[in-house]
Amino acid sequence: MDNTDQKANRGLDFDPEALRAKYQQERDKRLRPDGNRQYIDTTGEYARYAEVDPYVEPGFTRESLTDEVEVAIIGGGFCGLLAGARLREAGVEGIRIIEAGGDFGGTWYWNRYPGCQCDVESYIYLPLIEELGYMPKEKYAYAKEIFEHAKRIATAYRLYDDVCFQTRVTDMRWDESMRRWIIRTNRNDAIKARFVISAVGGVSKAKLPGVPGIETFKGHSFHTTRWDYDYTGGDTTGNLHKLGDKRVAIIGTGATAIQCVPYVGKYAKHTYVFQRTPSFVDLRRNHPTDPNWAETLKPGWQRERATNFAEILSGRPVEVDLVNDGWTDIFRNNIASGFVLSSERAQAAPEDLALRAELADFQKMNSIRARVDQIVDNKKVAEALKPWYRVFCKRPTFNDEYLPTFNRPNVTLVDVSEAKGIERITSKGVVANGVGYPVDCIIYATGFEIGNFIRTARFEIYGREGKKLSEYYQHGLRTLHGHSTSGFPNWFFIGVGQNALSANMTSMFDDQAQHIAYIIKEVRSRGVTAVEATPEAEQQWVETIRSLVAASKDFLRSCTPGYYNNEGDTSSIGIFDQIYTPGINQFNAMLAQWRDKGDLEGLQLLK
Ligand code: NDP
Repeated sequence: MDNTDQKANRGLDFDPEALRAKYQQERDKRLRPDGNRQYIDTTGEYARYAEVDPYVEPGFTRESLTDEVEVAIIGGGFCGLLAGARLREAGVEGIRIIEAGGDFGGTWYWNRYPGCQCDVESYIYLPLIEELGYMPKEKYAYAKEIFEHAKRIATAYRLYDDVCFQTRVTDMRWDESMRRWIIRTNRNDAIKARFVISAVGGVSKAKLPGVPGIETFKGHSFHTTRWDYDYTGGDTTGNLHKLGDKRVAIIGTGATAIQCVPYVGKYAKHTYVFQRTPSFVDLRRNHPTDPNWAETLKPGWQRERATNFAEILSGRPVEVDLVNDGWTDIFRNNIASGFVLSSERAQAAPEDLALRAELADFQKMNSIRARVDQIVDNKKVAEALKPWYRVFCKRPTFNDEYLPTFNRPNVTLVDVSEAKGIERITSKGVVANGVGYPVDCIIYATGFEIGNFIRTARFEIYGREGKKLSEYYQHGLRTLHGHSTSGFPNWFFIGVGQNALSANMTSMFDDQAQHIAYIIKEVRSRGVTAVEATPEAEQQWVETIRSLVAASKDFLRSCTPGYYNNEGDTSSIGIFDQIYTPGINQFNAMLAQWRDKGDLEGLQLLK
């Protein structure tokens, strides 16, 4: 232990060096040489796990389309909805949203597992509620209400008018002679569009563990992203009465499992939860919306609240914490400075800062582990449920029912950390640590491919002279401010990548939507046909992002594997290698300044 360490160590009721060693040991035992290759796609023989749409009548057909629209938006989740809404506000007609599902909602259309809920406060997570005069029922809204709100936005902004549901884009090509995109789909469409916005979302491509035998299982199985209520009974609120005589295996203990395990545990005859890495689980404290509080809100309140939340999550001091929940608690305690350095904190020596952040992180994680001991009766089970890594190695979760579920006599935690996961699936059930667990049903809560939008989108984009976007991005994204790429005229990206990342995703999508709507409006009013990033501006932005993210690499390298750090392979490019780390408010301020200048700097306009 060096001097700084010893100084900082004074007054601590724990040994930081012992914790560092423990974290490394727990990380090392989970590291796998196959990294992301350990997972299999939900395509081909596994397509039924995630490619089917259980919410529509089979047999939908329609005429193929070859017409022209002003703006095509690919994806009808919150990214696409917000892009559509902000374009409408900018006076754009001729908007067509192309969406694989049978309605709007994206993530909130597909994910309907019991207990599914937003994990950021609904007053800032549900976009446009102030504009639409809607107040969520609870501080953390459940999936059904969020899905309804997605439809509310689509109705209010007339986005149902020209929508193409149950349609998957297969590729899109820029036609220089027409200066239009040609979008081809699995419905044999060849839609012309002047502008295209890719709004394909981040958590739409489910993955399964690549263990032997998945296809041999004779019981029932599904992925959480296509919950099978015909089999379980009930709905998103519970009442899974058909599980009463069933033994169920749930594989995975990430953010999804934390929300659905309490429901399965309550209704199934027996539940086996297969856990490789425990989640950070803090208090949720959900409550109904107080109408008296809602009455006090002044115009502009939602934006003010979201900005206040983002300010805290960027590690900057604020006078009042408006959201005041588990997220802001983490950041108010300085833990995040491993990721983000505020200008105030930048005055201090970097090592001192990093150490303070690490100690605060240890303290928070100690309290999370102590919470497990307080709630879970069986000491061995409690020990297995304790997470040993830093707070932001995985997405923190908040739930009041998850940990008590392990006190139920009909729930068994199976720790598969030593074996780096479940071993295999047989016709009868799951094999883990050499032991067979016969079950009637396997539920895969094994997550999604996150961080590679080209793979998520599942279609190729051919820009000028047939330039392939996947090839152009093979060594990482190349954009100006995350939304435009040279050689791909009139194409915009909305989502995560080379822009600022916020835990409150929808608010950040709205910021991007407003910025893109501004650019499209300007291009239309300036009498030009097309716009794209200049290669120079794009290169400059790529370098800016690369220099900013360098600091987070060491942090991620020390983390337990997961999608945050490419399953431990930090030599390749992951989700956190592509973000503007000073924070969303700084990013928005920079873009606001850029818009105020009015010269569309870094974009070239083509007559
Ligand atoms: P995650 O990727 O977070 O979790 C997948 C789980 O499957 C992990 O526990 C993983 O273990 C486990 N797993 C994978 N392979 C194996 C194996 N071979 N054996 C045993 N276990 C295995 O997916 P989620 O669907 O839970 O969440 C994904 C993201 O979706 C979240 O991080 C969040 O961004 C979003 N989300 C948001 C919610 C909200 O409230 N708004 C709710 C749900 C999800 P290990 O950790 O060891 O890899």
